[in-house]
Amino acid sequence: MTEIKNFDVIIVGGSYSGLAAAMALGRALRKVLVIDNGKPCNRQTPHSHNFITQDGKTPLEIATLAKQQVAEYNTISFYNGLATNGNNTENGFEIQTSSGDKFTASKLIFATGIKDIMPKIKGFEECWGISVLHCPYCHGYEVKNKATGILGNGEYGFEFSKLISNWTTNVTLFTNGKSTLTKEQTKTLEKHQITTVEKEIKKLEHTNGYLRNIVFKDESTSLIKAIYTKTPFKQHCPIPEQLGCELTDEGYIKTDYLQKTNVKNIYACGDNTTRMRTVANAVSMGTTAGMILNKEFILERFSYNY
Ligand SMILES: Cc1cc2nc3c(=O)[nH]c(=O)nc-3n(C[C@H](O)[C@H](O)[C@H](O)COP(=O)(O)OP(=O)(O)OC[C@H]3O[C@@H](n4cnc5c(N)ncnc54)[C@H](O)[C@@H]3O)c2cc1C
Repeated sequence: MTEIKNFDVIIVGGSYSGLAAAMALGRALRKVLVIDNGKPCNRQTPHSHNFITQDGKTPLEIATLAKQQVAEYNTISFYNGLATNGNNTENGFEIQTSSGDKFTASKLIFATGIKDIMPKIKGFEECWGISVLHCPYCHGYEVKNKATGILGNGEYGFEFSKLISNWTTNVTLFTNGKSTLTKEQTKTLEKHQITTVEKEIKKLEHTNGYLRNIVFKDESTSLIKAIYTKTPFKQHCPIPEQLGCELTDEGYIKTDYLQKTNVKNIYACGDNTTRMRTVANAVSMGTTAGMILNKEFILERFSYNY
């Protein structure tokens, strides 16, 4: 028989955002369960940047220190595993895990991140987060002035090429097939020495994730040291949608500025809610979710006892 345990709050996702929410709630004396299966999106990147006090540390070092500090609060419990189902109950919610364990709480926070969907280009996945990058603010300084490619097309390829020219003047736009940029956009890039290459990519040649060459289907090559691109993504966890949380057109969980979803007593924070994908932002949103959710408990207590 599976054991049922009750908490004030269950946080699904115990990476940067979930741990920040847990710290705010633990310090507010709430009984919290953090369920996490240990797959943060940045786990392959060798060094994380642009998070003050932790610049250049590995993602694991940052997460380990965060978990140690959160574990100091004895109202917070941790469960290692995958949350698979969520149901409404009379007093809130029940979350079930892949091992069949069940936990209940009156309020939920989803800090479950997103899952990047890798294109079918040989070598891409191995280079992801090492020399194939999502964000210049996180990794641009380390590859400044290097021969850099943008893998993208249309409006997005155009805008990303302009952005990256801040870090290097050696930028090439790879559209991986026919360009969908307007003539004017192509001319603007050319004026800034950014060429557009339409050849289809066969593979990325690399050493331990560090790019050496792009190899095209016609077997020609391009000596490129870093690529920026935006991969498609899906929500890491289906439970928010199961419980009625709305998504935006782009596929993020819809929240207000206090991290409340459209479903009462369900909050979401971190990468699953925003394009602004940084550790600092995930932590900030987690802290907000924890503080505001705690305030709801207080308001409920005062209105019941009025
Ligand atoms: C390759 C790469 C490199 C990056 N580099 C940087 C950088 O240098 N600097 C920077 O500031 N930002 C960087 N980022 C962005 C940063 O990593 C994210 O913004 C941050 O990790 C988001 O934190 P999060 O807690 O929202 O989600 P994540 O860190 O992705 O964590 C989500 C957690 O939820 C868990 N989870 C999901 N579903 C379930 C479930 N059903 N049950 C249990 N657990 C679940 C996952 O296992 C995971 O542990 C990088 C991102 C990528 C992809």
